[in-house]
Amino acid sequence: MSVTDRLTKLREAMEPAGVDAVWVSQPENRRYMSGFSGSAGSLFITPENALLATDSRYTEQAGKQSPEYQVVHMAGPGSEWFKEMLASMGDAKRVGFEESHVTVATHKRLADLCGEAGKELVPINDIIETIRAIKDDAERDALISAIRITDEAFVEVRDALEPGASEQDVAWRIEMAMRNRGAESIAFDLIVASGPNGAMAHHSPSAEPIAVGAPIVIDIGARVDGYHADMTRTICIGDHDDQFRRIYDIVLTAQETAIATIEEGMTGDQADALARNIIEKAGHGPEFGHSLGHGVGLAVHEYPRLGQRAPDVLTQGMIFTVEPGIYITGWGGVRIEDIVEFKDGRCSVLSSAPKINVKNGS
Ligand code: ZN
Ligand code: ZN
Repeated sequence: MSVTDRLTKLREAMEPAGVDAVWVSQPENRRYMSGFSGSAGSLFITPENALLATDSRYTEQAGKQSPEYQVVHMAGPGSEWFKEMLASMGDAKRVGFEESHVTVATHKRLADLCGEAGKELVPINDIIETIRAIKDDAERDALISAIRITDEAFVEVRDALEPGASEQDVAWRIEMAMRNRGAESIAFDLIVASGPNGAMAHHSPSAEPIAVGAPIVIDIGARVDGYHADMTRTICIGDHDDQFRRIYDIVLTAQETAIATIEEGMTGDQADALARNIIEKAGHGPEFGHSLGHGVGLAVHEYPRLGQRAPDVLTQGMIFTVEPGIYITGWGGVRIEDIVEFKDGRCSVLSSAPKINVKNGS
């Protein structure tokens, strides 16, 4: 889907949302709607026009990346250029804005300016995030490149892992392995959490040596062309104990069951329950404290959401994670996370890094 197609989709959504124009400032939405990858700028989209306002650091880049837009040099105080943008919207009265991104202070200032110009700021909820939930071919390709790099980096570092390594060592080796394979950056601060640290789902890697036999939760992702991979494996240096085998088996069964049974039209809440029921029946419900998964793309966490009470409907073309976990204070955690694509009525797994197979003891 080209930027032109994305503009068409957004314009189609404007009337049902009760707006005549849309102001886009959220970074991923801005990049998705325009192709512009700079860190600052606003889009102003009406049924007829598409303007991209940015500062002098980016005007040349914006002109190259966003030929569908008229690039406007944003200079002087915010109120001045915003007034110019409002004037460029002609007789559009209701201007949509991203309420979950704009600060209260900015909203107040710009709402006043809109009022002076005879216009009104209207929240557009998550129109663009909803369009972004369904990936086109180019987005899928970027995600698959990021996923491949992540898979390969994991295997390289896992195979070379020896007693005495620290969580920080492992995180840094994985980061290097991803960069060596062409990742533009890491997708997020990599998580390597061994032993009791693994009970904290978002632990920061420490410099302590990893204990032999302790579970190690490794949650990693590479970023390619702005798209984020996100994958978790739980491994051990040395043999795993019986507790590990038992917990790992429950988490893996929960993950495999959810992946095999998610159906078109299910809500994120229903998908979450497929895995959660298994973990609850095994007596570990309270120890699965987070959601089952989330969409991935220009943001690491985006629509659809798969979690308790998540209303998002799962449908063809969505790409999301499935990542159940069990976290036991004082012992550690097990999380297994893969990215799947919802296609032809079922989930197919895009990540390919091997998992421990506890059933045959390997
Ligand atoms: Zn993750
Ligand atoms: Zn995730």
